[in-house]
Amino acid sequence: MSLLTVICPCYNEEESVELFYREVIKNEAFFQGKGVDMEILFVDDGSKDATLLEIKKLRKDDERVRYVSFSRNFGKEAAMYAGLEKSRGDYVVIMDVDLQDPPALLPEMFSYVEQGYDSVATRRVSRKGEPPVRSFFARLFYRLMKKISRTEIMDGARDYRMMTRQMAEAILSMGEYNRFTKGIYGWVGFQTKWLEYENVERAKGETKWNFWKLLLYSVEGITAFSTAPLSIASVVGVLFCLIAFVMIIFIIVRKLLFGDPVSGWPSLVCIILMTSGVQFFCTGILGQYLAKTYLEVKRRPIYIAKEEV
Ligand code: UDP
Ligand code: MG
Repeated sequence: MSLLTVICPCYNEEESVELFYREVIKNEAFFQGKGVDMEILFVDDGSKDATLLEIKKLRKDDERVRYVSFSRNFGKEAAMYAGLEKSRGDYVVIMDVDLQDPPALLPEMFSYVEQGYDSVATRRVSRKGEPPVRSFFARLFYRLMKKISRTEIMDGARDYRMMTRQMAEAILSMGEYNRFTKGIYGWVGFQTKWLEYENVERAKGETKWNFWKLLLYSVEGITAFSTAPLSIASVVGVLFCLIAFVMIIFIIVRKLLFGDPVSGWPSLVCIILMTSGVQFFCTGILGQYLAKTYLEVKRRPIYIAKEEV
């Protein structure tokens, strides 16, 4: 028998845990038929509610349930990393606990792994039920990433993905502190089959992401998988030098022909404001990369586990 580990990061999800378990375990007959055992590995990301209690309840009746519990909230990225690290399966699949990643897709995903794909990934083709502003910025982010990063990052890609042990190990070998899994998946490569589905709304509870958190997460993605913003300063610098050069010629010629060297106070102020703005912006970008580098060189652990079964 081989083993499939279902990794499920949870943060304050007391209402969803049991429901998720029941839905996932429905696939057991299928996997048994294929000679595959299932285990469900919950990663409790420092929940403040009864999530861990709910998980322990499941564990009491079912040996296939395992869990890791963090000492505090480390974020979903850390939870996924811990899940991969603690998983023992020959195949692993990462799923959200809120049933937005339909468990009914598992058999289809597995059939592609059987055919020889290293991973089967999913993407949402619609963003139905999501605030329009959020969708707009999400789209913008993916379009930008496509331009500035060489790593392939799919629009609408979910973290819902089944993969072989080999690919899981490859992801684990990327021990960076600032994690952006969607990029890491692309970076490690391997042959990936994409499945598409319509957006499903959350079964219970509410989303843990607000606009601000998503914005910071997108900065994470950009700094982790592109260095293009760092070259903005050089490009703008060269551009401004060219403009300045043309203007110097223009002013000298005008002085020689018409006199009048001191006009244009307002335009001077505008130019100073504009250039200093661009300078601050570029310093800010440098600061972002420096901050990420600073956190990275500290080599802090990605998570700290408090309890584990
Ligand atoms: N999650 C987590 N740690 C966090 C935030 C979220 O482990 O700090 C888990 C959460 O419990 C859920 C999954 O990540 O299983 C996706 O979160 P959510 O449904 O809130 O995100 P959305 O689907 O709205 O993007
Ligand atoms: Mg969700």
